[in-house]
Amino acid sequence: MRIVQWSKVDARWYLGVLCRKCEAPILFALDHSEGEAKPARAEKLLLTCSRAECGHKADYTTAKVSRFQKSSRAQNEAT
Ligand SMILES: [Zn+2]
Repeated sequence: MRIVQWSKVDARWYLGVLCRKCEAPILFALDHSEGEAKPARAEKLLLTCSRAECGHKADYTTAKVSRFQKSSRAQNEAT
């Protein structure tokens, strides 16, 4: 099974947090609720920033979880 589908327009929503260092979105889960339900909280959320130049690793268990769409320019819209 392959899960790599980045070549097409990805209109799905993802749950993510903003990196504490560079504030880039870190996506960690697919949002199956399509934006209707509240994001489920993970018990322990240890994430590493996906930007190679950052790579900051932190505990985001208590961080605010937001929704992101890969097809949009999430890095430009995140303020
Ligand atoms: Zn970062």
